[in-house]
Amino acid sequence: MNIAYFSCSICGAVYSSGEVQYVCPRDGGNLTVHLEYETAARKPNPADILESKEASIWRYLPLLPVEDPGYWHTPLRQVGWTPVYQPGLLKQELNLRQLWIKDESRNPSASFKDRASALVAARMKTTNQETVVAASTGNAGAATACMAASTGMRAVIFAPRSAPPAKIAQLLTFGAQVILVDGNYDQAFDLSLAASETFGWYNRNTGHNPFTAEGKKTAAFEIWEQVLRTLPAGSEPLRVYIPVGDGNIISGIHKGFLDLLSLGWIEKPPMLIGVQSENSAAIANAFFAGTEEITPVRATTLADSISVDLPRDGLRALRAVRETGGHYTTVSDDEILKEIPQLGKVGIFVEPAAAAAFAGLRKDIREGALTPESPALVLCTGSGLKDVRAAANAVPPAPIIEPTIQALMKVIHD
Ligand SMILES: *Cc1c(COP(=O)(O)O)cnc(C)c1O
Ligand SMILES: [Zn+2]
Repeated sequence: MNIAYFSCSICGAVYSSGEVQYVCPRDGGNLTVHLEYETAARKPNPADILESKEASIWRYLPLLPVEDPGYWHTPLRQVGWTPVYQPGLLKQELNLRQLWIKDESRNPSASFKDRASALVAARMKTTNQETVVAASTGNAGAATACMAASTGMRAVIFAPRSAPPAKIAQLLTFGAQVILVDGNYDQAFDLSLAASETFGWYNRNTGHNPFTAEGKKTAAFEIWEQVLRTLPAGSEPLRVYIPVGDGNIISGIHKGFLDLLSLGWIEKPPMLIGVQSENSAAIANAFFAGTEEITPVRATTLADSISVDLPRDGLRALRAVRETGGHYTTVSDDEILKEIPQLGKVGIFVEPAAAAAFAGLRKDIREGALTPESPALVLCTGSGLKDVRAAANAVPPAPIIEPTIQALMKVIHD
């Protein structure tokens, strides 16, 4: 294991690997994992990664704080290395010279969260833990349950009772013990912490567990291989559009680019653009106010995966954007819904949170914050199958007709 130390995002305190498990004991700040290669004279060799045959996050093992977990021929080995598309139709319509969409619905449980849960499962193997607990609006839980099923571990998942039915069905199908909380995500989060303490279960909660960001950073490594390395020299910096709820995806991706920077494999991280729903904008609010003070909101967005009152990784999510010269954008629920069929038109089926990132891109173009020359990548974080109700609300219903050619002709000619 190549963990050098942990550092607190609030007070900067440094802890050795055996000293801390979750957040900073002094102030509850998120802990960042630092790896030995940051300071070691001998660095990993990029060729080992670039030539790897492993089409998953495990191609980055030399840059991850875990040992190879094994579990060959299980879904755990299929996490990550998701495709990037260059949809010609959208590029033309938006008048962008270069546009990539990274499709995270291709992960085993159909969302970006598998990256974090796979890494947590590997960590649990190293530390001999058997039960994992997580609070989730749905996807983190489904990912945790899927990885637990892959590895024969036990998963206990707390979700708000309002979570989309598909996500709850997924949790149950993966064999997790599912507890639906008569409350919101934030209340489920707090209950899971108490459960973790009471029963000694390993807690995977987003941001609370320092290893979730280490899993999420693998998306930055893939963007480096799939996109950054293909950009011609002298091209404008890449803009990466990321939907933000707790802020752990964007802070994890930032960490990944910082790792690449410290290895000298890139010269500058891309600009990270965080997109929040207007109805769940605690981090964006702090960004616009020019402060690091994050005030909780009462989140009401229909994009359940980014519906968060108190972001659990807000500070690092703010810095990810400020330090890369990016910005935050907020979008309405209406704009989010409208984007679902727009992405559908190029063959990508997304849930509302993923559509939010695309709505942010469109808003930036409208407002001149993204120009045609700027290369942009949109992270589509979750599958539309996760929330078919939202998708159904975003498109007109199909006609129902008598099974006759006359009835058909009427519909076709209308
Ligand atoms: C969790 C999630 C997000 C937001 O990630 P945070 O780390 O909470 O900011 C966005 N989209 C989907 C589909 C998610 O599941
Ligand atoms: Zn601290």
